[in-house]
Amino acid sequence: MSVSIFTKIINREIPSEIIYEDDLCIAINDTHPQAPIHILVIPKKPLVNLAEAEESDKDLLGHLMLVISKLAHQQGIADGFRVVANNGRGGGQTVFHLHFHLMGRKSFSEQGM
Ligand code: 5GP
Repeated sequence: MSVSIFTKIINREIPSEIIYEDDLCIAINDTHPQAPIHILVIPKKPLVNLAEAEESDKDLLGHLMLVISKLAHQQGIADGFRVVANNGRGGGQTVFHLHFHLMGRKSFSEQGM
């Protein structure tokens, strides 16, 4: 598998404003936001997507969920946000390195999935 754009961002080969980082993941603002707040939470491990995750990734996946919660609080959107993981081409995935979209400050109430 070729190196993903997100791995290049993690390795500082491509510039990006990293708004959160720890040993396991980074968070960056999406370059084409679909909501006033649109953050991508990305594991440093280059998992392709959720369908490729294994039992051994359980702690990492849990960690990513807690980072999303922490960021939602930090961004002041803990009372209303959406988390999306597009999986595979059929699911709308365009970057084949697992990431979760954290979106907020937009009314999602009248939209479908
Ligand atoms: P996907 O369609 O795979 O679920 O989401 C990929 C997301 O990555 C898209 O929302 C797209 O705007 C975002 N994206 C693609 N390339 C870059 C980049 O170089 N920097 C940032 N910050 N976001 C990117």
